[in-house]
Amino acid sequence: MLEIKNLHAGVDGKEILKGINLFVKPGELHAIMGRNGSGKSTLANIITGRDHYEVMEGSVTYNGKDLLDMSPEDRALSGIFMSFQYPVVIPGVNNTYFLRAALNAKLKNQGLKEMNAVDFMHLIREKLKRVQMDEKYLTRAVNDGFSGGEKKRNEILQMLTLEPTFSILDETDSGLDIDALKIVADGVNNFRNNERSFLAITHYQRLLEYMEPDFIHVLIDGEIVKSGDKSLAIELEKKGYSWLEK
Ligand code: ADP
Ligand code: MG
Repeated sequence: MLEIKNLHAGVDGKEILKGINLFVKPGELHAIMGRNGSGKSTLANIITGRDHYEVMEGSVTYNGKDLLDMSPEDRALSGIFMSFQYPVVIPGVNNTYFLRAALNAKLKNQGLKEMNAVDFMHLIREKLKRVQMDEKYLTRAVNDGFSGGEKKRNEILQMLTLEPTFSILDETDSGLDIDALKIVADGVNNFRNNERSFLAITHYQRLLEYMEPDFIHVLIDGEIVKSGDKSLAIELEKKGYSWLEK
């Protein structure tokens, strides 16, 4: 589904990613672990096409297409989604309108019928249950005054609503208490199937206890220095990252 080859990339002329290779097949969940500043969010920003982030070398293909050639909105329309490490607050924009507009843009792009307000309310109520969110969050502005944990749940609500095929979860676990972490992990687990893939960025092993990863990659200073299975996360929890440094 996603093929990253020899990716060198950064921001404002500074190289942050130094030759990343990553292959994600349909249905797989890959975890990216690493200390703060190792380039995890930069990788997410490059995949989603964030402004000011630039590719110096290498390629990223998504379902056989050159992803780097696509606009951020086209990437989103073709099924790429990111749950932000720092979710954006959008004062004045109602959460329901925001979600429905995003979903309708996607349905329209697929040549499908857009959803009216009544049908959408039906759909969103069912999605809210999966992340145990109260309906009152629908009438508020997007993330406005939400606690850290509420913002992260709202990101997952967006994912469940848009039904992306490739989801990047950038530290969706940070700032969550153990109950919220389980709710978020359950939301993701129930959403997993053999056609959807995930890149879960985290620096704790804890999330991976609840979400079964197929592969774990350790990012240090912009390079994947080690890849392995779930046992690697347990090893990292015990030994930290220093044994993997050059
Ligand atoms: P992580 O998500 O692993 O914590 P980031 O990808 O956010 O790491 O950051 C990697 C490095 O890139 C850090 O040293 C950070 O300071 C730097 N960086 C990120 N954004 C910018 C920017 N806009 N300008 C300059 N340096 C940046
Ligand atoms: Mg980050």
